[in-house]
Amino acid sequence: MQQTFSILLVDDLPTNLYTLSQILSGTYDLRIATSGLDALRIAEAQAPDLILLDIMMPQMDGFETLLRLRHTEWGREIPVILVTADDRMESQVKGLELGAEDFIAKPILAPVLKARVHNVLERLRLHRELVRLATTDELTGVMNRRQFYARAESHWHLLQRYPAPCGLLMVDLDKFKSINDSYGHAVGDEVLKAFAAVIRQGLREHDLFGRVGGEEFALLLPQTGVQACVDVAERLRLALAACAVQVDSGAPLHFTASFGCTQLRGEDNCLDAAMSRADKALYCAKTGGRNQTQLLLPEDASA
Ligand code: GH3
Ligand code: MG
Ligand code: MG
Repeated sequence: MQQTFSILLVDDLPTNLYTLSQILSGTYDLRIATSGLDALRIAEAQAPDLILLDIMMPQMDGFETLLRLRHTEWGREIPVILVTADDRMESQVKGLELGAEDFIAKPILAPVLKARVHNVLERLRLHRELVRLATTDELTGVMNRRQFYARAESHWHLLQRYPAPCGLLMVDLDKFKSINDSYGHAVGDEVLKAFAAVIRQGLREHDLFGRVGGEEFALLLPQTGVQACVDVAERLRLALAACAVQVDSGAPLHFTASFGCTQLRGEDNCLDAAMSRADKALYCAKTGGRNQTQLLLPEDASA
């Protein structure tokens, strides 16, 4: 199903807004703002896919609005098309330098407006698809290794400024090689998918979950202290043990995983230091008999 894009129309004159809406409604989900300030407020609250921005407006003009938008965390990347009667070269250059995607001249010609909007949104669709491909693991749909490390690393930077408890876990499927060997690689893939789905279901919105190796996954749980982190691991471990993959021939296939927990701290020298601690805890869970959770805290790791 194709997604309906949302467009924020910004103009101080109601007749201009009316013209734009007439041309674009039906194809897009439209929102309206009648001043630069209004536009920024609505853009922050509703995150439109595209903004059509009038340049000449009282108080805050389109350039100023665009400048402010580009300096926000939430609005840096929203594409903007400037809609203007001012076709002077300097204005166009200024708009482009501020990060406008394109220009549309007034008076509005419907086919030109439609074509330019369509092109910008197609580029946006492609860009989003590329970002998705670059950041997610194709098989399981969770973050890939690069994305997990990037996000976890920025969380570690955050912890250096704002200390808070944070759980870090490594999870590895038990005897997964023998599942592949006994049932084939395709069934192994189904197990990985089922594994990821069970874990994902048990997480909160701000938790990070990534595939960091073949059958190795990592979790970062913000605002989660030692005991809560072990509790989460145990809950997930039991949910996994209760899950089964249907195999064509025969009984449902059960599988288990081992969990290594630690805490990520701002005082950690680097993210890798904490990751290798979680890895050590995982190793203990493996050598301890698998299908279990082990904990290794920073203070115990250095001893
Ligand atoms: P342990 O309990 O010690 O972790 O044993 P294990 O067999 O799970 O660990 P080992 O590292 O020996 O084997 C991991 C296996 O995971 C080997 C590899 O072929 C398989 N694997 C890695 N990625 C994939 C994948 O994408 N699909 C499938 N089906 N198998 C994979
Ligand atoms: Mg394994
Ligand atoms: Mg392994």
